[in-house]
Amino acid sequence: MARDNFKKGDITKLSQRVALRCSNPACRVPTAAPGDTELGVNSIGVAAHIHAASPGGPRYDPSMTSSERGSISNAIWLCSNCSIIIDRDEARYTAKLLKEWKVKAETTAIREQGTKLPSDEDAINLTTMALTGHPQKLLTKAISNVHTATARAIERSDPRFEVTTHFKDGQTVYEYHAKEDVTFNFEVKGEEGVEILRKMFEEGQDAKLPAKYFDTRGFNFPGGSPDKPEYVEIRKDGIEAIHRIWLIDTESKVTEQFNDVHGKAYFGTKAMRFEGVACSGIFAFSYTRPILNTGENSSFNISINFALWEGKDVRKLPYFSKIKSFFDGIFHGAELHTSLEIDGDTAFKANTEKMGKEPEFSNVPESVRPAPGSTSNPLTCMAI
Ligand SMILES: [Zn+2]
Repeated sequence: MARDNFKKGDITKLSQRVALRCSNPACRVPTAAPGDTELGVNSIGVAAHIHAASPGGPRYDPSMTSSERGSISNAIWLCSNCSIIIDRDEARYTAKLLKEWKVKAETTAIREQGTKLPSDEDAINLTTMALTGHPQKLLTKAISNVHTATARAIERSDPRFEVTTHFKDGQTVYEYHAKEDVTFNFEVKGEEGVEILRKMFEEGQDAKLPAKYFDTRGFNFPGGSPDKPEYVEIRKDGIEAIHRIWLIDTESKVTEQFNDVHGKAYFGTKAMRFEGVACSGIFAFSYTRPILNTGENSSFNISINFALWEGKDVRKLPYFSKIKSFFDGIFHGAELHTSLEIDGDTAFKANTEKMGKEPEFSNVPESVRPAPGSTSNPLTCMAI
């Protein structure tokens, strides 16, 4: 069977587009070095097929034409080791993953072009600085270098994860993103920890656990110190979902459609959580409800991000009239109807009874918050 091979000129360009480094983000070894003769090149690089060149090969796609298979867009530059590894385990090294590697390798090559590679001395200085907190000499981008170096060091201990680090609210944050389906064992100690995990599995909540409750086997998180308690946060991947909201006036039966709320639904085994925004982020809508209808009432949280109106002309506040009309409708006894749509199918519909009290507002700045006991709503205050 004929193989759909790449053209020689294309292969050279493919390798140069990733600075002759292996495109596997966990590898990145240089693939070329001088050979024995004066013009000799010793290459350990391979232009590997993302979808195999002939039937029966790894990730072979029969729907591709011969020229598509031999096209450079079906190629990825790898070192010879990685080119063997990707063909041994098709299930792990999918075409999608290899295409991600290729994009990442080319983006990295753009970022690194013309920048100095770290020398052995830099590595020693960085390590000393990380351990002592004192720079050995002035290094430009020292903090981001430490973040990157730490992330890479953690990645090397478990290449199934992509690690990013940043500094937020006085804490160093490490984010672990699984590159593939990962089997991951951990043990949680203490009743509080178990309760947090129960909420995660049953109600689709994010789990934030003090690291002292968290015991992983075979996977180490960076150490903390007693004065700086560490937390481990596990976030679920949500499913894209749309909430449609409309009001029905109980007397006139007139329906008023509100803007669609785009967000994500997070499913646990017993309950689901939805979080979304409409009106360019000004209107936020969220709730947690049981998956099976238990007949119990559940409540919605609606909040307005007033910060997005700050500094704007009060006569032209974006979405103001739409949102005001929505709250006016609710305060005047209209029924709130909602439906959750996932992939075009309605997951559930719900409606509220007539609201007996004003909803509680969150994120309302002091300047526009109504005085205690006042019956005027904050949106009207904004307009005055
Ligand atoms: Zn490699």
